[in-house]
Amino acid sequence: MSDQTKMLDVVVVGAGFSGMYLIIKLRELGMTYTVLEQGDDVGGTWYWNRYPGARCDIPTIEYSYSFDDELEQSWDWQELMAAQPEILGYANHVADRYDLREDIRFNTAVVSAEYQEDGSFWKVVAASGEEFASRFLVMATGCLSVPNWPDIPGRDDYQGRVIHTGLWPHEPVDFSGLKVGIVGTGSSAVQSIPEIAQTAETLYVFQRTPVYTFPAGNHELTDEFRQDIKTRYADIREMQRSSMAGMALYGVMGRLQDIADVNIKDLSDAERRERLAEEGLPSIRRYPDVMVDLEANEIACELYREYIREVVEDEDAAESLLPLGYPIGCKRQVIDIGYYEAFNQDNVCLVDLRKEALQNINQAGIQTTAQQYDLDVLVYATGFDAMTGALTAVDIRGRDGLALKEKWQDGPRSYLGLQVAGFPNMFTVTGPGSPSVLSNMICSIEQHCDWIADGLEYLRANELQTIEAKEGSEDAWVKHVNEVADGTMLTTPSCASWYLGVNIPGKPRVFMPYVGGVGAYRDHCAAIAAEGYKGFELG
Ligand code: FAD
Ligand code: NAP
Repeated sequence: MSDQTKMLDVVVVGAGFSGMYLIIKLRELGMTYTVLEQGDDVGGTWYWNRYPGARCDIPTIEYSYSFDDELEQSWDWQELMAAQPEILGYANHVADRYDLREDIRFNTAVVSAEYQEDGSFWKVVAASGEEFASRFLVMATGCLSVPNWPDIPGRDDYQGRVIHTGLWPHEPVDFSGLKVGIVGTGSSAVQSIPEIAQTAETLYVFQRTPVYTFPAGNHELTDEFRQDIKTRYADIREMQRSSMAGMALYGVMGRLQDIADVNIKDLSDAERRERLAEEGLPSIRRYPDVMVDLEANEIACELYREYIREVVEDEDAAESLLPLGYPIGCKRQVIDIGYYEAFNQDNVCLVDLRKEALQNINQAGIQTTAQQYDLDVLVYATGFDAMTGALTAVDIRGRDGLALKEKWQDGPRSYLGLQVAGFPNMFTVTGPGSPSVLSNMICSIEQHCDWIADGLEYLRANELQTIEAKEGSEDAWVKHVNEVADGTMLTTPSCASWYLGVNIPGKPRVFMPYVGGVGAYRDHCAAIAAEGYKGFELG
């Protein structure tokens, strides 16, 4: 490290909604800091995921910052569930409004971060070799920011154009007249398939596991609604913060309402169908027993399958699209606009990899056990190394040179999803063990950044230098995280979700987010701080 390297108070890695808000907080504290971002602008998820159809899966008025009343008043959301350009526009609006870019070093990918016990600081190194030194390190690197490129034989032999939904080009991609293949049927694929199908000559959908997806119910917002919201933000934010998933669902109650008043098992078949007809498909996942009782869940699944058979005209395609063998609600909810309807188009062809396995990729396209599919463009909608991927991609070393990757080889361990024992003065925003991806992420991001900033202020006020999760408190928290997830659909043995890490070969099957709810978690974090950061070693 050169003698000139300035000792900063904080290095933040990542300039998505987490890193952006941290700038606001660190400015309030008057601390010295820098934000290092590998991309060339702000927005994180919404900067990278520009695929056609990308949009929010929750009401976007709630997927927004709450820290400044004037900011809330300054922005008019156009749609209930805004599309990527609108959300990226909002991120840019925030960056402009608070001059955030002046504090961000773009095109700076962090490759390592090592805690220096002699001097109690972090040495952070970028891919360029540039070095940074800081007392605190905040990893705001995102939960869904490392694209997964499945290791399919021959992957690199393909000669056509390759695009990952999570690394979509900035300029529009024209699919007209082209044979396009898309691998995957998760959220990204479900959103992009109907859009790509509009122009592609042929769209081959390579499906390994059929998905449960629910109509988004998106619509444009009226001026009246926008004005109404602007008078109610304070109440809405309070409801979000004490809720289960960080959402008040203001203005959409009744349609997106979380829990029904009755168990599905207590209804007759006729009553279930009547409710379905009245309330729409999303209602089948709202029965309390559907989320905890596999038999009840199967009743909902059967209603779901009937719906597919009704919508998809081709019988073979419909049968192939039926999700079987795993419950509704074990994965992140997927929402769509015209997903099943797209399979009624002549130019959309479902390739069921359960019937014809994907053998290899070659120069011309994809070879299955049944036939060769020649493709002009191959789209990977194959997801992310979620929650831990961006953290273990950086060579992070704590006390005694302990590598985070090594510590987490049997699954992530963290106290509150905020700190890892053995890694003093390092914080993770929405890390494993926090509500994170089970919640409205901006609500959870704000809570984490506020908590971290309060912690930094507490240390300063008490003339303390270090904060570090205690091993025992980390163990107890990990145990608690597992206990609350047990018995839910989220951890049922037939579930193969990225919440459990099973989408990445070799990753241990461990449930990563905290299912106890945003409100309860928030109270717990606040109580810990109020008790002098109980469970943390302060030095
Ligand atoms: P990110 O937005 O992922 O930002 C992290 C930043 O860190 C990135 O810009 C990345 O380039 C940078 N970075 C990572 N590693 C390094 C490194 N080593 N060096 C330098 N920079 C680095 N959540 C919801 O609540 N509702 C939704 O509707 C929703 N929709 C989503 C749709 C998609 C397509 C995806 C992928 C995710 C969605 N999410 C949604 C989750 C979303 O990730 C969060 O809502 C939120 O945007 C995360 O913000 P963040 O700043 O924590 O992380
Ligand atoms: P994903 O849910 O992990 O889906 C990946 C898809 O790729 C799955 O269908 C998977 O099949 C398939 N796949 C992976 N490897 C494969 C292989 N080797 N061969 C064949 N198929 C393969 O990823 P995602 O769709 O990008 O979504 C990830 C998360 O990002 C979401 O859950 C959500 O949290 C967020 N997101 C949100 C939205 C939104 O609506 N706002 C949109 C996009 C993403 P298997 O199931 O068989 O593994």
